[in-house]
Amino acid sequence: MKPKVAFFDFAGCEGDQLQIANLEEELLTLLGQVEVVSFREVMKEHSDNYDIAFIEGSCTRLQDEDRLKQIRKNAKIVVAIGSCATIGGINSLKNYQDLDEVRKTVYGDKAYLFDTYAARPIDAVIPVDAYVHGCPIDKEEFLSVVKSLLLGKKPDIPNYPVCVECKKNENVCAFERGQFCVGPVTRAGCNSCCVNEGTICWGCRGLVDNPNENSQKEVLIKYGLTVDEAINKFRLYFGWQERKR
Ligand code: SF4
Ligand code: SF4
Ligand code: SF4
Repeated sequence: MKPKVAFFDFAGCEGDQLQIANLEEELLTLLGQVEVVSFREVMKEHSDNYDIAFIEGSCTRLQDEDRLKQIRKNAKIVVAIGSCATIGGINSLKNYQDLDEVRKTVYGDKAYLFDTYAARPIDAVIPVDAYVHGCPIDKEEFLSVVKSLLLGKKPDIPNYPVCVECKKNENVCAFERGQFCVGPVTRAGCNSCCVNEGTICWGCRGLVDNPNENSQKEVLIKYGLTVDEAINKFRLYFGWQERKR
């Protein structure tokens, strides 16, 4: 019997599900190992009988909590995919604003119809068994996590900062280029891909488990930057994690 898998989306852009749909040949191989019973992005059928639930997007409304709890009840394994689901992600930017103003900006005079609360990751509502980080997720990492789960193993997710990969890739540090980078406290696993392309790390994979904030502060001081200058960069992805700390 192949394990039955289902995909669900909450507040997000569906970019992670698109990554999975774009797996092409590898998706066919994966489909040989599992039975997909629900995946709105690519099929119409839906079943509530599944073993593994992949959840994309943040929880941004109280009424979403019931749906999440039902998914948790149905599934043996719950996997959060993409930063919105794993850390709250970019949706958490609204957590720094007046939520009534946010609703009015988005829905105008119909704002009263749309309830909302602070955006949060899935594990703020239900227990999560595994994570695929990133915005969007990396296709290869998704496959690797799925393979581990099918083998009954705990997926191996790096717990050291992006700087480690960045140094191995011999990049010129963003700070040396006069830019601010969140790499010193961000979880690795993306092979420092953004810095490799000449930009910075924005932190889409979330904080490492025990971020060395002192080291990040030392870097700021060394390059003459203030915490205020850094804070907006941190808030792009770390909104919920910052609130927890
Ligand atoms: S993590 Fe990024 S790609 Fe995924 S749903 Fe959120 S915004 Fe979209
Ligand atoms: S701070 Fe950014 S650019 Fe510098 S080494 Fe770390 S990840 Fe690379
Ligand atoms: S370098 Fe930073 S922003 Fe880019 S993918 Fe990696 S964690 Fe995300």
